[in-house]
Amino acid sequence: MSKPEPGAAPSGPAPDPFRQLLDEVGAFVYTIDLQGCYTYANRLVLELLGHPLDYVLGKDISHFFGEKSNQVIRENDARVLRGGETIAREETNLIKATGELRTYWSMKKPLRDAAGNIVGMLGISHDITEKKRLEDRVRKQKELLDTVLDNVDALVYMKDANRRFVYANQHMADVLGLPVERIVGSLDTDLLPRDLADRFWAMDQKIFASGQRQSSEEAVVDACGRLRHYWRVVVPLPAPDGTPAVIGLSTDITELHELKEELRRQASTDGLTGLANRRSFCERAGHEFARSRRHGTPLSLIAIDIDHFKRFNDSYGHPLGDRVLCAFAACCQSMLREADLCARTGGEEFCILLPDTGLDDARRIAERIRVSAGSLCVDGQSPQLRISASFGVASLESGDQAFDTLFSRADRALYCAKQQGRDCIFAWPGG
Ligand code: GH3
Ligand code: MG
Ligand code: MG
Repeated sequence: MSKPEPGAAPSGPAPDPFRQLLDEVGAFVYTIDLQGCYTYANRLVLELLGHPLDYVLGKDISHFFGEKSNQVIRENDARVLRGGETIAREETNLIKATGELRTYWSMKKPLRDAAGNIVGMLGISHDITEKKRLEDRVRKQKELLDTVLDNVDALVYMKDANRRFVYANQHMADVLGLPVERIVGSLDTDLLPRDLADRFWAMDQKIFASGQRQSSEEAVVDACGRLRHYWRVVVPLPAPDGTPAVIGLSTDITELHELKEELRRQASTDGLTGLANRRSFCERAGHEFARSRRHGTPLSLIAIDIDHFKRFNDSYGHPLGDRVLCAFAACCQSMLREADLCARTGGEEFCILLPDTGLDDARRIAERIRVSAGSLCVDGQSPQLRISASFGVASLESGDQAFDTLFSRADRALYCAKQQGRDCIFAWPGG
């Protein structure tokens, strides 16, 4: 060692750069002898033990850690010191001084002398307590999210900008009849019918372009072949790797949809006969009227009223009258084509709309129904139970501005039929 220059500060032993390095390395570094007593401990270990190096050297862990931790640590140390193993593992230490439980990732290696005999052990540990806590929190949050997503009554999925599924919940897997792992990574075209996949893709593209959520109602045939209805809401969301993606939530609204359809059906159907009611008849007739005007095709209307039906009810009772109305409705239906529309427009009044049909044909159809109605068998074929009906027939004329004009002409024709003695047909204007 060179002599200090005069005037220079007095110096102690030269600082050991390796020891300094070990103090700054950010890990717990220590060595112990064969008896498990510390022979070296860096700054972090000393801070952890809460004592200076002089105190720590020559003492084993029983002075510093709780008994339970000691046992595990000693067992590991013995494998290194006696068995010469190198151990890398996680361990939990209860710090006696603070009562705190901390987790370390430790690497333990035997120290050997020049002859190769084990003389001690080198330990390097990283405090991973915070990392573990964070992992635990993330794991619990994921479990919570998975529980919510798998139990929510909706299909939840995530798709990237290449039409590939990035996520699917259990409900989605159940509907597709595939395991989640099979869905994730697959293209929409691999899993869905082409037209449906393309419809979804068109919507996804709109979302990528606008950044706005979209919603729609979709009909999908599930794995069991049942038609299900979904309310689909799709929102933009970057995938975990930052690339654009969409997240979709499809709620099963099949029951609601069926209820809505049933209500719609009930609102447009006559409850007794199952025919269209007056409201839906007028609606459909309005469309047919406009279509015939547009294409210049014929359109005819037959207005029907059962004769002396009040008398019938009074004689045989209202319930039987109801059955007659049903039988008459079925009789009319059986004479018509798919495109024709038969409705019960009032108590014992019916209307038949005949698209692409002129007055003569309409008259012939009315005549067929009249004859057939005359031989309707209701309740045991008693001859007294015969009914008859009167028919007014009218066809679209060039000056007609609205369906109502045609309707009132058919009504006037029906009035004429009644005037002519009932059980007959009057075709407007001639009879
Ligand atoms: P007309 O030949 O002039 O048509 O005589 P009508 O008795 O048929 O005519 P009116 O308008 O006087 O009576 C219609 C009857 O239709 C009155 C009512 O008892 C009967 N009616 C209306 N709705 C129903 C129904 O839903 N069920 C039954 N059973 N009868 C009905
Ligand atoms: Mg009437
Ligand atoms: Mg009547």
